[in-house]
Amino acid sequence: MAVGSYAVASDTGRKRRRNEDNYVVTPPLFAVADGMGGAQAGEVASKLAASTLEGGEDAGALSGVERVAALIQEANRRVYERSTSDPAASGMGTTMTVAVVEGMTVVIGHVGDSRAYLVREGRMEQLTEDHSLVNELLKSGKLSPEEAHVHPQRSVITRAVGTDPDVDADAFTIDAHDGDVFLLCSDGLTDMVEDEDILDLLHRHRDDLDRAVKALVAAANRGGGEDNITAVAFRVAPGEPVEETRRLPVQTEPDEETMEAVPEPAVDTMVIPPDRIDAELLEAGSPEARAAARREPADTSARVRLALTMVGLLAVAIALLAWGLLR
Ligand code: MN
Repeated sequence: MAVGSYAVASDTGRKRRRNEDNYVVTPPLFAVADGMGGAQAGEVASKLAASTLEGGEDAGALSGVERVAALIQEANRRVYERSTSDPAASGMGTTMTVAVVEGMTVVIGHVGDSRAYLVREGRMEQLTEDHSLVNELLKSGKLSPEEAHVHPQRSVITRAVGTDPDVDADAFTIDAHDGDVFLLCSDGLTDMVEDEDILDLLHRHRDDLDRAVKALVAAANRGGGEDNITAVAFRVAPGEPVEETRRLPVQTEPDEETMEAVPEPAVDTMVIPPDRIDAELLEAGSPEARAAARREPADTSARVRLALTMVGLLAVAIALLAWGLLR
């Protein structure tokens, strides 16, 4: 099988100051990574993960799930190494959802709450399982799907790349059919747009994946755009795999609403291991919850500089006025 066509769209959304999502579109390999961490550490984590995949030809003789798992493990090593050597990057991590078209299959590798979907014959299936607090609560029957959708801690993930020396990645293969469309996306899409609406948009623009992913991002922004939004889509077609890889330009079209965005959402992405969920569960005053609430991007220095500039300009204006009056 080969990659017939593919497209990507990534957007800051309407509430965040920066886009900490990253993606890889180097057919036959595709991925999304949603970074987390204070200041700009989330961006660093997701970028490190993405660049590990882009330089991943040297994964040796490995193939299939072993290769994808090794790539995620290597990304984990690089992010963890940086986070333990650079105090500004301490505790950072990232989700990773990877898809590689290989032979008659698509290999999926996955950590975190980004997702892979398969659209086949008009139906959409979520291939990955969210490694998230909310999903754990859903599985144990403590939450209904409706409650899960609006849960204040829905950004809390139970596994991440780079937060521990080792990572437990899901890796599996899907038999590929001619015409299958795979979608990889960050939670900024799936928290804002229902699955049936995602399928509807993919179906409506099935002949133009570029329009499809842009429509998905637009829908997420219409739904509130509370988080960074990234969507990567590719279609599988009969034929030989593409050997040469080409990189798509990064889509950066900040709209005015994004630029005017004000406070960060109170809930930020954080990691709680599954075995600690009950201890941490829903306790607003828990240390992690407080740490998450404190995790504001360090844009204060920029604001201080702006304030000083304004004061300076005002002083100059007053001086000019005084000078004019005295003449
Ligand atoms: Mn996100």
